Amino acid sequence: MGRIATELAVDLQAGGTADLDRRVLSLIKSGALAGPWRDPRRIPWMPITSTVGKDTAVFQVAPLPVCIGTDDDFMFAPMSADTQQQLADMYGLVQPTTKLFDLCRQQGFQVNPATQPYDGPTRVARGYSPNMGDALASLRFTRDMLKAIAGRVGLPGFPYKGWMLTNRAETPGQAYNYGFYTTGATTSTGPFRSASGLVLWQQLAGRHNTRHWDYSQVGVYFSQSCTVNGRVRRLSDVLLDPEFARLASDEGVLKTLRQPLLDQSGVIAPRPSQPGTGELTFKRVLKLGSRDGAGERVVADVQLFLGCRPDGAFGPTTDGLSREFQRSVGLTPDGVWGPKTYAAANAALAARAATNLSLGPAVVAPSSSVVLPLPDDFRMPSPLVAGFRQAKQYKPVTRKPTKIVIHTAEIAELPTGAEALAAACATSDRVASWHYSVDCDSIWQSVLDEHVAFHAPGANHDGIGIELSGRAKQTAADWRDDYSLAVLELAAQLVARLCRKHGIPVRYVDEKGLLAGENGITTHHDVTQAFKRSTHTDPGEHFPMAEFVARVQALTEAAAQAA
Ligand SMILES: [Zn+2]
Repeated sequence: MGRIATELAVDLQAGGTADLDRRVLSLIKSGALAGPWRDPRRIPWMPITSTVGKDTAVFQVAPLPVCIGTDDDFMFAPMSADTQQQLADMYGLVQPTTKLFDLCRQQGFQVNPATQPYDGPTRVARGYSPNMGDALASLRFTRDMLKAIAGRVGLPGFPYKGWMLTNRAETPGQAYNYGFYTTGATTSTGPFRSASGLVLWQQLAGRHNTRHWDYSQVGVYFSQSCTVNGRVRRLSDVLLDPEFARLASDEGVLKTLRQPLLDQSGVIAPRPSQPGTGELTFKRVLKLGSRDGAGERVVADVQLFLGCRPDGAFGPTTDGLSREFQRSVGLTPDGVWGPKTYAAANAALAARAATNLSLGPAVVAPSSSVVLPLPDDFRMPSPLVAGFRQAKQYKPVTRKPTKIVIHTAEIAELPTGAEALAAACATSDRVASWHYSVDCDSIWQSVLDEHVAFHAPGANHDGIGIELSGRAKQTAADWRDDYSLAVLELAAQLVARLCRKHGIPVRYVDEKGLLAGENGITTHHDVTQAFKRSTHTDPGEHFPMAEFVARVQALTEAAAQAA
């Protein structure tokens, strides 16, 4: 069993401040990661969008800094730049830049740092050590921050500092920190303005060495997986790409993706500075026992694709995940990476890019076709699908969906409905999942269209499940309140695009139609009636199906004309 953060903090504190970051690192290596970090392969990444000129990228950030302890009692791990670099190497993650930090602040919800008091006597009286750099201060900071973000859904808007990747870092052992955004008052010593106009206490500065840490320095990481203009890329490649680096860096192309001149013994070499396409290139056959040579990234790239630790050694985990992938795409599950498996992996990468985030811009249908009015303050989200959080339960087969199944999620009408549904789908052990969640201002995806989700027994194998925020007991009037009208419009936009994309007919298919094998738009209730394998009756008898299908039809026609 893991040890709670309270104990870890007391122990770390008792050991003094010397080498504290090394002791934190060994705790992490011995399995003390907690909260969303318990298994770094399953971090619930949150999307951050960056637009420069005509280019748009979607990056993925971990919702909380690296945590140690147990899931019930964890703290942000005290983080030196050295520790941050080593974790990046261990898990194939990317460290922040000032620009990525700023984007998180802008697109998360605003929460200010729980600044820990600095004056000795007051701090001691309140249970703090008079030293900023102690483990108990980290514990208190974490608790204050978790209290401040409790009950809120989405990304906390970065009330901490991080160690940055920057071209200014040229002196060995010197680390650059940045952050501590605030909306608070100005004093003679700050706050300052970031390049994008945000107010913060810590400008990019290199006053510390790579072993320094204090409670405000935490481990913020980004996934290698990102998209640029809808194409899957590696964030490392983007940071090194003259054409697109600006999307992720205020300084343009970065000269290094590492903290400066750290001891690299036992750590993974950085990827060569060759901008890539995110595609995997077949170089040689890989199988159990294969290894990357010095400076080589063949096995490591396959490992990144599979989502395991890219250590360049093809071991049992890589073998198992390879077989699982091969099975999912109908190849012989032998764990051997030859040209066929590479081709299937590249097809899967392309499908992920096309399915997740690039459903295209919103379509505006002629107003005469609007049978469901739009609420006055309606704004079309862009992108239409805010992000992708992989469901915990799903079947990674490759199939062609032929039906859309509409559900109500039986949750309150809240603007955070889709985010909450996606979070539940990504974390719940219950065997239930769906492809898209819709609320009044956003859509989140949980399962790829070509994968099977578990939402409507009888129609799971060929259906795309869409959960609408709201309840099956809604009256006709309830479906016409501003919230539901916005949900219906977003759902219609989504369904129109899915029908076009997959060639699904835009028509309502009832229970009889389902039994006759017709394809189109149906409901959980109809699936229940047809196949008798569930008792659910959502989205309820007053769901305005005729108007909804008419709206989807209008949007589909408008899109066809525009094309
Ligand atoms: Zn349902």
